[in-house]
Amino acid sequence: MTSLAVLRASELVTLSGPKRPRIGTELSSLGIIRNGGILIRDGMIEKIGPTDEIEKNLGDAEIIDARGRVVLPGFVDAHTHLVFAGNRLDDFERRARGETYEQIAKAGGGIWSTVEKTRAASELDLLAQAKNHANWFLRCGTTTIEAKSGYGLTVEDELKILRVMRQLNASRRASDGIRESRIPSKAPVAIDAAETEAAPEIVPTFLGAHAIPRGMSPDEYLEFVIAEMLPRVAVEKLAEFCDVFCERGYFNIDQSRKILSAAKKVGLSLRGHVDQLTNSGGAKLLADMGATTADHLEQTDEQGIAALKKANVQPVLLPGSVYALGSSRYPRAREMIEAGLAVVLATDFNPGSSPTPSMPMVLSLACTQMKMSPAEAITASTVNAAYSVNRGDKIGSLEIGKLANFVIFDCEDSRELAYWFGMPLTHSVFVKGERVL
Ligand SMILES: [Zn+2]
Repeated sequence: MTSLAVLRASELVTLSGPKRPRIGTELSSLGIIRNGGILIRDGMIEKIGPTDEIEKNLGDAEIIDARGRVVLPGFVDAHTHLVFAGNRLDDFERRARGETYEQIAKAGGGIWSTVEKTRAASELDLLAQAKNHANWFLRCGTTTIEAKSGYGLTVEDELKILRVMRQLNASRRASDGIRESRIPSKAPVAIDAAETEAAPEIVPTFLGAHAIPRGMSPDEYLEFVIAEMLPRVAVEKLAEFCDVFCERGYFNIDQSRKILSAAKKVGLSLRGHVDQLTNSGGAKLLADMGATTADHLEQTDEQGIAALKKANVQPVLLPGSVYALGSSRYPRAREMIEAGLAVVLATDFNPGSSPTPSMPMVLSLACTQMKMSPAEAITASTVNAAYSVNRGDKIGSLEIGKLANFVIFDCEDSRELAYWFGMPLTHSVFVKGERVL
């Protein structure tokens, strides 16, 4: 039995509260304990409260002094495209010259160029690149990552991507890459990071319907996804969710409904990329389908918001992609919060439209561009995000019985996480009570 105590945090941000996603004014309630402490046994939170209380029964617990620092649940990133090969530097430069996402895709860039590189990469190669990406997330304080396939678009390549995710979860022991990039620390933490669990947990999502391969019509490809890919994904239990890119030039509402219905039949929960570039009624579709989340929503109107509310679908907002695409059309976060939606924030980490693994950067964008408060942004990227990946009972807040996934930040006030932007304030990261960074 190993035990660990974190003491004297200037702010211990617990996010304690009802056992469900937070809505309305609940998003502002962080459950902060000043001079707070946690007692952890076997990776679980056994006690949490003021340091004086926790100190009474320390036993043989290893002590971490978090004086002058904020302790927060590890971020849960509910929307990423973690596994891909290469980068999209040429697209980035084209966009800087003024070309649009759609123009770049037509000229041979965009998703297709990443598909070609990802198909060409071996499983081992992809795994190495994905480990590197996962390590970036850890350095930003993220301990759980939803990750989508979608850069394979053939049976074998989609399965290859999902197997990489499975391997990441299976190899959640310290890897060389993680050890090398460990942030040196002056803090009195006497735990050897080299012997601990390393990578964040991956929540796998099948996104075979991400783009349409060359030489196929959308309908032909869709039939192929449903008949050939989905059954394999289901039989090998490679994904928990199914997603679709519902957008002009990709999959329309009817086609999206088809793939999501088929996925539901084989037991997958549903997410969707909707209303990003056009308001096509995607939010309403996901509400009709009983999806867990509707993601993007930059163009969603009041009717879409009302539909999501009625069906209890969580909106996943991705301001990093709006920013990186050079757009100013952010989703209507305030209206969604006021309508009672359990808003989630995520990075949309991907090589084309959102090359950032940084949840603190997303917090900054949420506050400056979408007028969310720092507290609302933190709730949206921890406990609400945890519910959106069906893990609200285990992670997302620091409460008795939950996993001890938490981050110590080099700041005294949790609002600083959204305020200082472009600079990681991460001091150390713990997964199931073990230091991983
Ligand atoms: Zn995405």
